[in-house]
Amino acid sequence: MRAMLLDAPRTPLRPADIPVPRPGPGQLLLRVRACGVCRTDLHVVDGELTKPKLPLVLGHQIVATVEEMGPGTDRHAAGSRVGVPWLGWTCGECTYCRSGRENLCRGARFTGYEIDGGYAEMAVADERFCFAIPEGYPDLQAAPLLCAGLIGWRSLKLAGDGERLGLYGFGAAAHIVTQVARHQGRRVFAFVRPGDAEGQRFALEMGAAWAGGSSEAPPEELDAAIIFAPAGELVPHALRAVGPGGVVVCGGIHMSDIPSFPYELLWEERVLRSVANLTRQDGEEFLALAPRVPVRTQVTAYPLGSAGQALDDLRQGHVRGSAVLSISG
Ligand SMILES: [Zn+2]
Ligand SMILES: [Zn+2]
Repeated sequence: MRAMLLDAPRTPLRPADIPVPRPGPGQLLLRVRACGVCRTDLHVVDGELTKPKLPLVLGHQIVATVEEMGPGTDRHAAGSRVGVPWLGWTCGECTYCRSGRENLCRGARFTGYEIDGGYAEMAVADERFCFAIPEGYPDLQAAPLLCAGLIGWRSLKLAGDGERLGLYGFGAAAHIVTQVARHQGRRVFAFVRPGDAEGQRFALEMGAAWAGGSSEAPPEELDAAIIFAPAGELVPHALRAVGPGGVVVCGGIHMSDIPSFPYELLWEERVLRSVANLTRQDGEEFLALAPRVPVRTQVTAYPLGSAGQALDDLRQGHVRGSAVLSISG
């Protein structure tokens, strides 16, 4: 099968022909139809996430059809359409797994990082971690739901239920969260790279009440903010933007160092926290909610062989909405 391989951090992806993987017990062999490109993939390529399997097939927003059911599988029928997210396996036995926090399982394994992902024509996944894809979503439009959507949803839940929500970085996750937040009756304040007029326009089109540069003060005090951009210097800006009791959620897996800031930015019970990974419950909740909003994803499609270009465009901030590899079907 064709695949794009990462041989080592900080090297370009390499097109390769590799053997089709075999599904083991509990696993499905999947024909990949589309795979979303995520900022986390960039962190893997750049060596900021330091423990990838190598060589590696990136990609953890896989939309696929079940090609073959491995021994002992019964949750997803052959031919059905499934989605594979970042969370690829958990131990099921530790304190975290047994308390609804499998996202924190120390033994967890992640798709497109420790398990080969979806930048390929075929993939293998544990059926317990595959979701049914809601009907009505074409393959390309469904792909961003699987990480931008799921992590966005978890971040939104952890931000609390305040009405005025700030979003720092307006890419794949923010364009989905904005639609969900509006559906919940909130107002969204979007912060983009200073001078990014196109980013501001996009945020307003997606339903933000206000859009401005990331170092600007919003027109009113916010109840919560989610930082999707991997830039630590945004943390003091976001803390300054939220009122007493406000929550600032860091939604990314990696962030540059956070500069020191005066305690008064945190005082008055402001909360600063991160979001790590997802639970299967987050996935079930979000994939049930998305068609009801309904969430409409904007995607820029690339052929499999242009995965490197998609990553470059994402790095440069040139992708409107989500970059998605169109692979088969
Ligand atoms: Zn566990
Ligand atoms: Zn992701």
